[in-house]
Amino acid sequence: MSKPSEESIRCSFCGREKKEVNILIAGITGHICDSCISQAHLIIKEEGGIKSKIEIEKTLSLLTPKEIVDQLNLHVIGQDEAKKVLSVAVYNHYKRLLQKNQVQNAIEIEKSNVIMAGETGTGKTLLAKSIAKLLNVPFCIADATVLTEAGYVGEDVESILSRLLQAANYDVQSAEKGIVFIDEIDKVARKSDNPSITRDVSGEGVQQAMLKLLEGTQVSVPPQGGRKHPEQKMVQIDTKNILFICGGAFDGISKIIRRRVKSQSIGFNSKNEHEFSTENILSHINQLDIKKYGLIPELIGRFPVLTYLHPLTKETLISILTEPQNALIKQYVKLFEMDDVKLIIKDEVLNFIVEKAILLKLGARGLRSICEAILTESMFRAPENNIKELVIDLSYAKKQFSKSKISQLKVA
Ligand code: ADP
Repeated sequence: MSKPSEESIRCSFCGREKKEVNILIAGITGHICDSCISQAHLIIKEEGGIKSKIEIEKTLSLLTPKEIVDQLNLHVIGQDEAKKVLSVAVYNHYKRLLQKNQVQNAIEIEKSNVIMAGETGTGKTLLAKSIAKLLNVPFCIADATVLTEAGYVGEDVESILSRLLQAANYDVQSAEKGIVFIDEIDKVARKSDNPSITRDVSGEGVQQAMLKLLEGTQVSVPPQGGRKHPEQKMVQIDTKNILFICGGAFDGISKIIRRRVKSQSIGFNSKNEHEFSTENILSHINQLDIKKYGLIPELIGRFPVLTYLHPLTKETLISILTEPQNALIKQYVKLFEMDDVKLIIKDEVLNFIVEKAILLKLGARGLRSICEAILTESMFRAPENNIKELVIDLSYAKKQFSKSKISQLKVA
């Protein structure tokens, strides 16, 4: 077969000659030019976007609450009540989304925004994050403490949606189905019951501003966030289908709950009182308590689901260290494995780590720093030492820990 002449080589897609295009790439039986490659790339990107939306709906329609809990169990230890409540809320939320796609339904299912109450470090953020990952929807975390009423120093509530938009890679449609986790919601509680002369711009003011996001309207959002770029073009985001999950420690709420339960239960006998003092008092929390705590009724009304988390016990902390798919100890074993060292951490060391975390009031968040304190020296030496196995026992752990900065922390 004779070779085609330079002039007769054309793009097999648009027909342009070689001299009319920048680049012409040869295939087995044809050619493609740079502009056809760009166009094809665009088509693939768009198709991909459509597919990912279909993907979301497929995942959503496939997972039952029980399956959601089973998946959460891989990452989050315990907190069964919160898992159950969250999985049902998410399931119903997405049923609601799927229903929207069908024409004119007489019954409109309302949104199931959730508030989770629980001490810091008990897994509230982890739960929300794991759910979003599971559903493959955009997710962002916002800290309620940095928000202020519009016009005051701090961030406007709209900045929350800017973050969600960024998490969705600026795809508005996908952001509109995302999950927002607002942390430390208890910190925007009304400062006092008495109306004061000074405005409560970081407390009640923020709650009022949040109502707008929660009720499901079109919100103008600065895509870059903040007020630093006044010239930026606003993006309209419909919050109707965004699921809001709030978390808060609600320090001191146990007194409110105790008082309410006592006043409600006529004939409250001493046995009940004993039971009451040993169980997790947060398990009795209800909307009245958070209202008394300082959240405004309009806001509470937009969070129909309220659940709680248990404080972490020693046993739970040990499980957190060793069981989740991404458990800390599994991570260290992997790290040493990469240096061809088999790492063995004795149970007495696990106990030691957990006891220190409890003593220093660091909760699960402190586990990592304590492990680092114990293992840094070994991680430093492992690549050089020609050892095949490293056993960490209690005396070694204590010695390394005592040399670390974290051991100098004073208990508050
Ligand atoms: P919170 O939001 O309640 O303050 P986080 O979810 O941020 O707490 O938890 C802090 C860290 O502690 C997490 O990254 C996780 O590693 C660990 N953790 C806390 N609770 C659990 C749990 N129940 N199961 C597994 N890990 C947990």
